[in-house]
Amino acid sequence: MNLANYIEDKWQEGSGGGVPLVDPVTGEELARASAEGIDIGAALRYARDTGGPNLRAMTYSERAALLKAAADVLSANRDRYNDISLRNSGATKADCRFDVDGGIGTLKYYAALGRGLGDNRLLMEPGSDQLSKDGGFESAHILTPTHGVAVHINAFNFPSWGLWEKMAVSLLSGVPAFAKAAAATSWLSQAMVHDVVEAGILPPGAVSLICAGGHDLMEYLEPGDVVAFTGSADTAAGLRGHPRVSANGIRFNVEADSLNAAVLGPDAAPGTPECDALVREVRREMTLKAGQKCTAIRRILAPAAHIDAVQSTLAEQLAGVTVGDPRNDKVRMGPLVNKAQQSAAREGLELLKRDARVVIGGSDDFELLDADPGRGAFFPVTLLRCDDPAAADSVHDVEVFGPVATLMPYDRPGEAFAATARGRGSLVSSVFTADQDFALEAATALGPWHGRLALIDGSVAEANPGHGVVMPQCTHGGPGRAGGGEELGGLRALRFYHQRTAVQAGSGSLEALRARAADY
Ligand code: NAP
Repeated sequence: MNLANYIEDKWQEGSGGGVPLVDPVTGEELARASAEGIDIGAALRYARDTGGPNLRAMTYSERAALLKAAADVLSANRDRYNDISLRNSGATKADCRFDVDGGIGTLKYYAALGRGLGDNRLLMEPGSDQLSKDGGFESAHILTPTHGVAVHINAFNFPSWGLWEKMAVSLLSGVPAFAKAAAATSWLSQAMVHDVVEAGILPPGAVSLICAGGHDLMEYLEPGDVVAFTGSADTAAGLRGHPRVSANGIRFNVEADSLNAAVLGPDAAPGTPECDALVREVRREMTLKAGQKCTAIRRILAPAAHIDAVQSTLAEQLAGVTVGDPRNDKVRMGPLVNKAQQSAAREGLELLKRDARVVIGGSDDFELLDADPGRGAFFPVTLLRCDDPAAADSVHDVEVFGPVATLMPYDRPGEAFAATARGRGSLVSSVFTADQDFALEAATALGPWHGRLALIDGSVAEANPGHGVVMPQCTHGGPGRAGGGEELGGLRALRFYHQRTAVQAGSGSLEALRARAADY
């Protein structure tokens, strides 16, 4: 099967051999993806010139209705998407909920939010400032959709959620989306876009998709275009540094990797609900999607007095995780996405071992259910221990994109916060404590280094959707190494796809404008 790209409102196959997509359990080739021979410059121009005007002619509530209709189509075909995820990503049922349902849920959330913006075509910030002594001349800020195309570059680990969380916001804003899927898992993105397109929901030019290639995308960017990138920090640095990005003042959002942490408070002794919650969360984060989540917990900071007890409980729980073919219901963790990722994880683990010792896992000799280790891309659940985090480097620096985390002790809270900050900017950290003073101290110390913090005491441990779950209500992204980007976060996300303009005018004019704008 050759996956066709959706370009200029037509399904077009690329030329050449393309990139193989494989079943990571068996190594069997499932499909090929190529965008070779596609004129990317013309494709972007079409999206800009056709999709842009079509979307901007609609109001926010009309575009919100498109999102709702797309979500309904996707919901109706959910079982097929789960099957593709199982075959192309080795996803368990829980992994599918995260990616497939996460994408559909985010679309529905923005559909509901967009309905609230009403029949308007521009947004306006609340309030105004007086610019003249008599108060008759004022300023206020409006936001209008950018007249460009939104290039969305996605990572392999979220072919559904990554695609729709970006498209939802861009389409609601009135900006056509040009998605570039990560080749390895592009089948799911392609199947979903195919169903939405064939349902005839979207106006011409509103969406485009390439399943592979497109590595020359930056060459064709024009003023007004924006880029939302998700992937590794290295790729991000190369693309963000492209001369055309700086020459054209292209807004460029980066969601990159990060060394997220879980911090156990000094009060959270073994047996407390907070300590139990940390252990549950670490187990879930390490094994869900086989640890291939940008938000997964990579480092665990525990008080020195409790670390041995935490370690033995965690090791016991992780040892009970069944790894193998997710077609078997007993399997709790599937493989990594392919052999290349398996090799990368092995290399990363060797680097971590310079500073840490293996508690469990770490070896290729582990039990698999219904799978052949030679053919599949499996990786063992691996817990490491580093006793001197202040002197260590690799544990704060190397993201092993798999089921791997490192446990580290601290004596004073300042040491835990300093160690967490050594990640040089992360997407999310969770702090498990019932001590509100410690929680406040943690929020103040960790805030500057994180896009999101979860402060978990026993009373919210059950309600917490999970450290790694990106809720559309909350900003997603992190400073520094994590890319410095921001996505989602309710209406805040629309800002990226809009130009903010200060309007200086008489009070009457501003009031008339406000009557025709949605509150932002
Ligand atoms: P990657 O190798 O950096 O690739 C990311 C995307 O960039 C892919 O679609 C890739 O396409 C594309 N790409 C590579 N070179 C390009 C170029 N020259 N021009 C245009 N596009 C180019 O990352 P990955 O291996 O897919 O994803 C794993 C990483 O993503 C992890 O480090 C993870 O932490 C991070 N991640 C972050 C988030 C977040 O929200 N912060 C979410 C998920 C993943 P090809 O497939 O065609 O190479």
